[in-house]
Amino acid sequence: MIDRRSFLRKSAIAGTTLGIASCTPSALRIAEKQLNIQYSSLYLPKLRISLDRVVKETVGLRPYRTIGPRIEKEELGSKTLVHNYGHGGSGWSLSWGSAELAANLVDESWSPKAPLASTAANTLVLPTSTAQKVAVIGCGVIGLTTARTLQRRGYEVTIYTKEMAPDITSSKATGTWSPTHRLIDSDKKTDTFFEQFKQMHQTSFLTYQNMLGLGDKVVWTDTYDVRQDLRAHGDFSRDDKYTLMRVLPKSQLLNKKEHPFKAPTVYRSTSMVFNIPSLLKMYTNDFLRFGGTVKIQEFKRMEDFDALPEKYIVNCTGIGAKEITGDEYLTPISGQLAFVIPQQEVNYRIATKNAYTINRKDGIVVGGTHKMGSWDTTPSREDTERMVLAIKEVADAMYT
Ligand SMILES: Cc1cc2nc3c(=O)[nH]c(=O)nc-3n(C[C@H](O)[C@H](O)[C@H](O)COP(=O)(O)OP(=O)(O)OC[C@H]3O[C@@H](n4cnc5c(N)ncnc54)[C@H](O)[C@@H]3O)c2cc1C
Repeated sequence: MIDRRSFLRKSAIAGTTLGIASCTPSALRIAEKQLNIQYSSLYLPKLRISLDRVVKETVGLRPYRTIGPRIEKEELGSKTLVHNYGHGGSGWSLSWGSAELAANLVDESWSPKAPLASTAANTLVLPTSTAQKVAVIGCGVIGLTTARTLQRRGYEVTIYTKEMAPDITSSKATGTWSPTHRLIDSDKKTDTFFEQFKQMHQTSFLTYQNMLGLGDKVVWTDTYDVRQDLRAHGDFSRDDKYTLMRVLPKSQLLNKKEHPFKAPTVYRSTSMVFNIPSLLKMYTNDFLRFGGTVKIQEFKRMEDFDALPEKYIVNCTGIGAKEITGDEYLTPISGQLAFVIPQQEVNYRIATKNAYTINRKDGIVVGGTHKMGSWDTTPSREDTERMVLAIKEVADAMYT
C-alpha cells in the first residue's frame, strides 16, 4: 500500500533523479533535500484565515491577583462573606476546584451544624423549604460553578449579578486548559498557595473529564507550536511543584515527517478546549433547573451586601471585586481575541510567536495579547491584524 502523498513524493523524486544512474537511498535523500520535499504523511485541513474572515473582536479583563486567587472567609456584621475571585488567566481551568474550596468555607460557617446533602457530582438535590439560603454575587464561570456546587450540597442559591453572558469576562476567554496562566506572581507562591492550587487543579481536571462526550462542550485537541527559531519550548511550567501535578501528556518535538508545517521547530502537545458559549449555557440552565434564581443587581461596596436577605454570601465578582473590596493586589490583564469564521473540519490548534488559535464551535479564535493594568475594553485593529497575520503566515505555508 502506498498513500497518495508518498506516491507523489516518490514520483517527484524519481522525475528529478532520472539523471542519476540508480535511485540509491542516498541519491533519494539528496534529491529530497534539493526539492525541499516535506515527508509528512499527516494531513491537517488548512486554516482559511484572513482579515476579511474576522467576524468579531473582543477584549476581556483577566482578574489577576498578584498573590493568587482570594478564596477566604470574612465576617461582615451579621453576614458571613466568602471571597472567590482573582483567577487571572486560569479561571475556566480552575473554576470547579475553586468552587469546591469556597463551598467548604460556607459549610464550615453553617450553624447550627446539620448533615449536608450528597456532594456527588451527578446527584439531583433540590432545595427543601428549610434549606440554608446562600447568595452568590456574579454570574461568570466562577459564580456559576460555585452556585452549582452549593446546590449539590443542598443549599438554596440566588445569584445576584450586574451582567451575564456574553457581556462578562468569562465569555471573552480563549477556553483552554491553562491552570497556571497569569495566576500569581512567581515570587509570591507559598506552601498554602500550592496546597490550594493542588486541590483546585485536581477537582477541576476530573470534573472536566466527566464532561467529555456531552456533545462537544469539552474536547481534547492537539496544538502545533510552530517556531522559526530553535528557542527552547516552555513545557507547561518550569516550576517543580507544578510539574509534579502534571496531568497532561508531555509535549513532543516532531520530526518533519510528523507535521505539515514549513518550520524548523514544531512541537505537538495535547490539551482540552472548552466550548465556552455552550458550557455557560449548560451551567446556567442547570442552575435554574435545580431551583436557582438569578437577579440583576449591582453592588458598589461591601456594605451593600447588608441589604441581602441571605446570611451567607459568596463574592465571585472577578475584576469587579476591585471596586467592591478595594483589593490592592487585584489588577486587570486585558486580552484581545479575534473570531474568524468557524471551520468544523479543523480540529487542531496552532501556536506561534505572539499568537495562537483555538478551534471552537463558534469560531477559529485567535488570541495572544496581555496588557497588564489595562482597563480598556475597546478592540484594537492593530492587535487583530498582528495576530491574524502571524497565524495566516503559518497556515498559508502548510503543505497539503
Ligand atoms: C482573552 C482571555 C483569555 C482567557 N483564556 C482563558 C483560558 O483559555 N483558560 C482559562 O482557564 N481561563 C482563561 N481566561 C481567564 C478566565 O476567563 C477568567 O479567569 C474567568 O473568566 C474569571 O471568571 P469570573 O467569574 O471570576 O469573572 P467574570 O466572568 O468577569 O464574572 C464576574 C461576574 O461578576 C459580576 N459583577 C462584577 N462586578 C459586579 C458588581 N459590582 N455587582 C454585581 N455583579 C458584579 C459580573 O457582571 C459577572 O457576572 C481568559 C481571559 C481572557 C480575558
